Amino acid sequence: MGTLQIDFGEDRKSKIVGIDLGTTNSLIAYMDLTGPRIIEDSEGRKIVPSIVSLSEDGKLVAGEPARELLLTHPERTVYSVKRLMGRGVGDVQEELKLFPFRIASDSESVIKLNLGDRTFTPPEISAAVLRQLKNNAEAALGTPVSEAVITVPAYFNDAQRQATKDAGRLAGLEVLRLVNEPTAASLAYGLDKRQDGIIAVYDFGGGTFDISILRLHDGIFEVLATNGDTHLGGDDIDNLLLRIALEDVETEWGQDLSQDSEGVQRMRRAVIRAKEELSFVPEATVELSYKGKTYQRSIDRTLFDRLIAPIIERTLASCRSCLADAKLTPEQINEVVMVGGSTRIPRVRTAVERLFKAKPHTELNPDEVVALGAAVQAGILAGDVENKLLLDVTPLSLGIEIMGGVVSKLIHRNSTIPASATETFTTAVEGQRNVLIHVLQGERELVKDCRSLARFDLKDIQPLPAGMARIEVRFLIDANGILNVTARDARTGKEQTVEVKPSYGLTEEQVEAMIQESFDKAEEDMRERQVREARVEADNILAATEKAQKNEAWEALSDNERRAIESAKRELRAVYHGNDHRLINEKIDALNHATQTLAENMMNTAVRGALRGTKID
Ligand code: ADP
Ligand code: MG
Repeated sequence: MGTLQIDFGEDRKSKIVGIDLGTTNSLIAYMDLTGPRIIEDSEGRKIVPSIVSLSEDGKLVAGEPARELLLTHPERTVYSVKRLMGRGVGDVQEELKLFPFRIASDSESVIKLNLGDRTFTPPEISAAVLRQLKNNAEAALGTPVSEAVITVPAYFNDAQRQATKDAGRLAGLEVLRLVNEPTAASLAYGLDKRQDGIIAVYDFGGGTFDISILRLHDGIFEVLATNGDTHLGGDDIDNLLLRIALEDVETEWGQDLSQDSEGVQRMRRAVIRAKEELSFVPEATVELSYKGKTYQRSIDRTLFDRLIAPIIERTLASCRSCLADAKLTPEQINEVVMVGGSTRIPRVRTAVERLFKAKPHTELNPDEVVALGAAVQAGILAGDVENKLLLDVTPLSLGIEIMGGVVSKLIHRNSTIPASATETFTTAVEGQRNVLIHVLQGERELVKDCRSLARFDLKDIQPLPAGMARIEVRFLIDANGILNVTARDARTGKEQTVEVKPSYGLTEEQVEAMIQESFDKAEEDMRERQVREARVEADNILAATEKAQKNEAWEALSDNERRAIESAKRELRAVYHGNDHRLINEKIDALNHATQTLAENMMNTAVRGALRGTKID
């Protein structure tokens, strides 16, 4: 008897997809009744290369067709655009040296890539990949797809996350959530079902290596530490094999193929094919037929393992640093998850197992786990899967500028997100009507050493004496790592909000450098901060004294008292520009002391005035 196919498609409100937007490859997945599932294109392919090309008729094409165009039209084809997402020209000078395609430099902050006669921003390029994935999903599922969960590296900062969301929007996808790649991989393995545990996610892809250590507590993931190398991956292995093959060709054919860009690309494909085969068989052959000539060379595992040993060692060194940052020993890792196509290499697996002293998870396809996990998260959002919380952390502290060029931090680095903080500030000048809110990112104490994210004015606040206004500043980082800053005049309720979409991003190295610098300069910074705070205090008391000298109470003082005040002012001014905050504070105290009678007299006058006032009433 035949079985009828059951149509599960109609009972759902909408399909939320999960997307792994990778540097080399991208995949899309969704949740069906049996679990997460990768969606194939019309030809049964799951992997969409993250390559985009401008076709003859002026359209952006992505995926496999673009990979073909990379051979014939490299000048209008781009890859690895993920490296440029959310970053400014200034941030990626080193990166750009490694990119063969040209960058339009009409603006110093926005990266634009030249494809043929047109230019595109990195989110526009990524959007083409996302559109391809979306089309594949719509064709396979037979329904429109408009909502997605997209994964990003754990170390991506606000700007890089925002750029990823922008790419989604450009592709017609509402990005409901950005999920860290290691978190997604852990979800794909259902590790959230454990009660507690420490998970290491080893992600060795095409061009990047990432190691992340997560803590799972009551079903909540928290990133403890990340490390890695943004230029270490399968590409490096390909380059090793390619160099050998090109040298062979030079001796065998008497021809320098390295000058022939199509020849090099074809040889690259040949070595990649052999490399990938070698993960399953003990020996593989690199084969190329090109312009009437043929090349063949077999490579066995022993040679291959020897060639890649230094590359594997570099990934292990990152793992050790990551463990050190998380203050953990390898024995404390409960689960190891393998992610990325390059973890198919048997030697990589044994090396990782030896380091962590635990058998890594390799049951799922390593190039699919991140997309599968994204689909699990999509299922959670759609209500198909029991709700779980996923926590991530902010890489750097966030705060605002206060008087004296000093930073007041609202959200500290490594806070789990979503996070919020509210603090009340006041005005510095009598009758002040506008307040400038300057949003900063970084670990240092002074504004000049932090990164400026945004500036905005809260206008037309109620004019009051200095120090009387109450301005509430609220920072809110949503689950996607996007920062919203709101300033509100507590008396009038007037408020102003900005969503921080910084045009510059930071590299992981820069984030680390900023944190390191804050440790190195901690003492120096603290001294400078104390000096600046003392100067702000000095400004306040000098201004108050000057104001009091215009009051009738001043006239009531004895000559001696007046001379003492003038001399205390002079002494404070004399140390004001010095670098000793204790000395400044000492002179502030002295001036306070000298003006005590004056202050009392003023108070009495005020009280007398008030009493007179009540009598009149
Ligand atoms: P990314 O996350 O960087 O976009 P992937 O995780 O898809 O990339 O990994 C792509 C890399 O994996 C490529 O360098 C590819 O050659 C490599 N790879 C894929 N399959 C194998 C295999 N069987 N053996 C070795 N390397 C492989
Ligand atoms: Mg990946």
